[in-house]
Amino acid sequence: MSDLQDRLRGIAVGAAVGDALGMPLEFHPPRPEYAWVNEMIEGPLPAGTFTDDTEMALCLTESLLLTSPLNSRDLSARFTAWYQSHPSDVGIHTAKVLAAIASGTDFAKASHEIQAEEPESAGNGGVMRAWPLAIARHAHPGLLAAETRLQCEITHTHEDSINGALLFNFVLYHILQNLSEAKELVIRQAILQASEQVILDPDFLLAVNLSAMRLPSDLKNSGWVRHSIESALWAVQTTHSFEEALVKVVNLGNDADTAGCITGAISGALYGINNIPQRWRQVLHGEYPIRSGKLWFEQDFIHMADQLAELGNNG
Ligand SMILES: [Mg+2]
Repeated sequence: MSDLQDRLRGIAVGAAVGDALGMPLEFHPPRPEYAWVNEMIEGPLPAGTFTDDTEMALCLTESLLLTSPLNSRDLSARFTAWYQSHPSDVGIHTAKVLAAIASGTDFAKASHEIQAEEPESAGNGGVMRAWPLAIARHAHPGLLAAETRLQCEITHTHEDSINGALLFNFVLYHILQNLSEAKELVIRQAILQASEQVILDPDFLLAVNLSAMRLPSDLKNSGWVRHSIESALWAVQTTHSFEEALVKVVNLGNDADTAGCITGAISGALYGINNIPQRWRQVLHGEYPIRSGKLWFEQDFIHMADQLAELGNNG
């Protein structure tokens, strides 16, 4: 396995593992260090089960493997079908948009109409599912930017939500361009390069730039896109392994699964699939499509990452 393939697989498995690790801690207060969870445990779902973050990334993957470049009509239909299959977890804003599409609102209008009702809403829903594009477009930054924006806008049109998704995928992109250097340097450079490419609101940029200096008590880790990005960047810059970064971030509680998912993708790119703890990979699972009987395990995410990477090599 090449180093690049190791890291592309690391993104997919890392994101799903992080989602599953955070699942039992979602909506809970932060845990003190002596009580940190560092194993896959049962929550609303059995231990090791991934949630909506990963399910929506699988919608995106299916759509992209069928139609490349990304077709937003096809993707919105897949998101809507997923929503109508009654997932156990779905973001409030995402649910409103997909319910509107399901009841007949045109997909291109629905997210704008819901956003107009709540102009301040800037959730992380378009970030958590964006990583399949970082795999598929690892050699195509222009397409990466365009498609990352497109997939986000289906449900989230606030500029912070879009910019958060762009920042996330460009951090992944720059990590993958920089495989040989020391990890501490690679992550800092990737964040710097990504934040030069994406025009962030000044307060958002400040949160990104100061992320490594935060204390756990500073981090709210809510579903607000700025909070999730801040937590993930904090976790990856203040640790030295996949395991350490993930344990640190999911124990912030609140939107723990999404923070775990984002941190898992970045850490997977940084450290590669073989540095994701075996004991977590072994219990990772989930059903997608919901109630289809099709179960996903680590091997399926590896296969998916290879298919996405091949799309990028051909495209
Ligand atoms: Mg979730």
